[in-house]
Amino acid sequence: MNAVTKLRKAMRLILVGPPGSGKGTQSGRLLSHFQMSAISSGDLLRENIREKTPLGLEAEKIIRDGGLVADDIMVGLIIGELSKRGWVESRSNLSSGVTVSGAMEMLGGTPKTTRLQACEAPSSSFLLDGFPRTKCQAKRLDEQVHMNFVVNLDVPSDVILERIAGRMVHVPSGRVYNTGWNPPRVPGIDDVTGEPLTRRPDDCPEAFAHRLKVYYESTFPLLEHYDKVGLLWTVKGNSSDEITPVLDEEILKRFG
Ligand code: AMP
Repeated sequence: MNAVTKLRKAMRLILVGPPGSGKGTQSGRLLSHFQMSAISSGDLLRENIREKTPLGLEAEKIIRDGGLVADDIMVGLIIGELSKRGWVESRSNLSSGVTVSGAMEMLGGTPKTTRLQACEAPSSSFLLDGFPRTKCQAKRLDEQVHMNFVVNLDVPSDVILERIAGRMVHVPSGRVYNTGWNPPRVPGIDDVTGEPLTRRPDDCPEAFAHRLKVYYESTFPLLEHYDKVGLLWTVKGNSSDEITPVLDEEILKRFG
């Protein structure tokens, strides 16, 4: 696929997959294949940590230890971002609503109770990478925005562990390398800027094993939830290259 394809129907996709399953890679490829945008909850949190916001300070230790940031904070953070980008709008004619005060307060904003409606223009298509991660987050999101496709990346654990062992990142740009199959031209150096690459603190073996355990415990109920409401679609593969064409085809079938 060369040109960016316009979708005929607004797609609101949730990308689910264990850490190291290639969510970031698939997300980047979808953005270059289809007219759509993306939000990564992990990137948003890391941005807050870099900028030392109150939320970032709160989240830093949790992330370093491989735990999960509180549902209230995450829901507020993501809903706030969706509104900021104009992909959802408030529905003034509805009275009851969901409080998104947690993160708004921590971000220094005004706590408010609001209900939202997704923008149906196909150009407002977006994907969420890393959110929701728990059934509670999913239900809170459902109350606010009707998501219409949930993709579960099913990658075997041994493949994931091998990937993580070699993962290096260029933090300012988010470029990800792998010492095994996608190495930088000069070891430890970003190809584009010549700046040093680092390992994510939460990629150390102990924290990663914990992250994987937390992921499976919290995600199983999430997948069950989306299966029940008929939105779940699972794609299996050992590599991102194997998964991308199957995923692209499914998106075209549903939204093209
Ligand atoms: P990721 O880049 O998606 O692997 O996320 C990195 C870390 O950010 C995770 O290990 C969690 O600590 C935190 N995080 C990201 N998304 C969420 C979420 N939806 N709920 C709770 N914690 C999250």
